[in-house]
Amino acid sequence: MQRFAGKTCVVTASTQGIGYAIAERFAQEGANVVVSSRKQQAVDETVANLRSIASNNDKVIGLVCHVNKAQDRKAVFEAAAKKFGSIDVLVLNAASSLHFGSTVSTSEKAFDAMFQTNVKSTFLFAQEATPFLTKSSFQPGAFSTNILLVASIAGYNPAAPIGIYGVTKSAMLGLTKALATDFAAQGVRVNCLAPGVIRTNFASLLVDAIENKEKSQEQLAAGLDGGLMKRVGEPREMGAVAAFLCSADASFVTGEVMIASGGTHSRL
Ligand code: NAP
Repeated sequence: MQRFAGKTCVVTASTQGIGYAIAERFAQEGANVVVSSRKQQAVDETVANLRSIASNNDKVIGLVCHVNKAQDRKAVFEAAAKKFGSIDVLVLNAASSLHFGSTVSTSEKAFDAMFQTNVKSTFLFAQEATPFLTKSSFQPGAFSTNILLVASIAGYNPAAPIGIYGVTKSAMLGLTKALATDFAAQGVRVNCLAPGVIRTNFASLLVDAIENKEKSQEQLAAGLDGGLMKRVGEPREMGAVAAFLCSADASFVTGEVMIASGGTHSRL
């Protein structure tokens, strides 16, 4: 499938994990791809990998972008516009989870930092992207410009050990609805992906807990049982769902959240 041929896809926080898998899928499906993260070396390695997948050096660029820095966000938009013209797909994937333990023991500093990265910077990224987005409309079956937020199943029922992180993800579910309403006037769809536990560095503690056969009652009560499928998810499975939501296959989908969690109906 080449659902993104000729389209320009910007993915934040995309040098590893879910963001990388989404960028990789876009590259495999013919997109021009703009990747970023906080570390130059990670960006350079990612660009090299994706260029070999795309078999075309001209279709992949990358730059350092800490999503909390206004000048970095601006640099992403300007680099995308200079190289490719305008942006067709914007995936807002960055997040931080800075506290592991009871919710009430979260420090104010950690609380503010998680809301800054997960909610405020996601909002600002979408807001500031507006002039750089390709003009489009909602014709049946046609590609339309779109924005995808990466939230979490944790947003549905936030609880320890990642309570406030979960609350930031609940806010992102609301942000998806609010942005979808506004962006519809410009022919832009806005959706959200809510992953379950996925095998990445970010979730290594949860992955270990799920894959450890000797589970405590506490871990089982916290839902660390791998859901209906009894396993964790792989990043490429998130790439596939994200690609669906961002493609013309989802031309009648906006303001929605898609959970991809292997049937995890737990507190996570
Ligand atoms: P990951 O494997 O740890 O990758 C995180 C990526 O984000 C890296 O490329 C990192 O690169 C970059 N990054 C981190 N902070 C950044 C910042 N402030 N600005 C720009 N880039 C930043 O994480 P992941 O598991 O793929 O998580 C990606 C998203 O999925 C997050 O929104 C997370 O909440 C969500 N999610 C994950 C899971 C899961 O189980 N893994 C479940 C539900 C939701 P640098 O270090 O170079 O910046």
